[in-house]
Amino acid sequence: METIDYEKKACVFNIQRYSIHDGPGIRTIIFMKGCPLRCKWCFNPESQSYKPMKDFGTMMSVQDVFDEIKKDQGAYRRSGGGITFSGGEALTHPDFVEEVIKVCRMSGWTTAVETEAYVPEKTIHRLVPQLDYVLLDIKAIPSDLHKEGTGVTNELILQNALIINEIAKNVVVRVPVIPTFNYSEKQINYICRFAKHMNHVETIHLLPYTDFGKSKYKMLDRTYELEGIKPLSADDLLPLRELVEGHGFKCVIGG
Ligand code: SF4
Repeated sequence: METIDYEKKACVFNIQRYSIHDGPGIRTIIFMKGCPLRCKWCFNPESQSYKPMKDFGTMMSVQDVFDEIKKDQGAYRRSGGGITFSGGEALTHPDFVEEVIKVCRMSGWTTAVETEAYVPEKTIHRLVPQLDYVLLDIKAIPSDLHKEGTGVTNELILQNALIINEIAKNVVVRVPVIPTFNYSEKQINYICRFAKHMNHVETIHLLPYTDFGKSKYKMLDRTYELEGIKPLSADDLLPLRELVEGHGFKCVIGG
């Protein structure tokens, strides 16, 4: 029997039930607060700071989270679903995430993480083998472009991506497709060429740009840098889907 520290706490800014887009089956998403990136398109800007702020974020214990997520345990069992850690960057809370993984393992629920992998390599080695699914964001391959769009260079991310490929049980690459950033055949080609080095990746998700976080920037007294850029539709991404499939991957738009 594993020892679980039910008192361990971290800042959670949302728990979303009945998701079908963030891993298999019906899932509950735990949105952890705090992210080392500053993507210009981020639609959860309230998630970026590590501190509870305004109305966003509550310190929750592992027990508090367990009480919430077990409400849907019947749905997880019936659908093969479970829990997905998201953010912010959930892997920047390794101690807390590890305790919640233990709770899920004990309960027989699958676990997934949505990550951009900008965390120390030792965190990847510690947590990824314990998770059932990794949904890995790769946003751009040229490091200067990555820095321009997200505030950080991507060497650590790409290095961790190759490690995740080796040690994850299941890994899917996800690409937020953003006009003025990576919405071009050239950039998606670079990403596909990189993903080919990840020999366990079969599927790439293309996530069309949406501006639905825009109003939150006003609430936070921040400037939305992509003002005036139109959201992309699934149809807009069809040529890029062909390109991804041409590289031999399955391609899903959205999800
Ligand atoms: S990695 Fe995700 S949570 Fe972090 S700033 Fe970018 S879009 Fe927002």
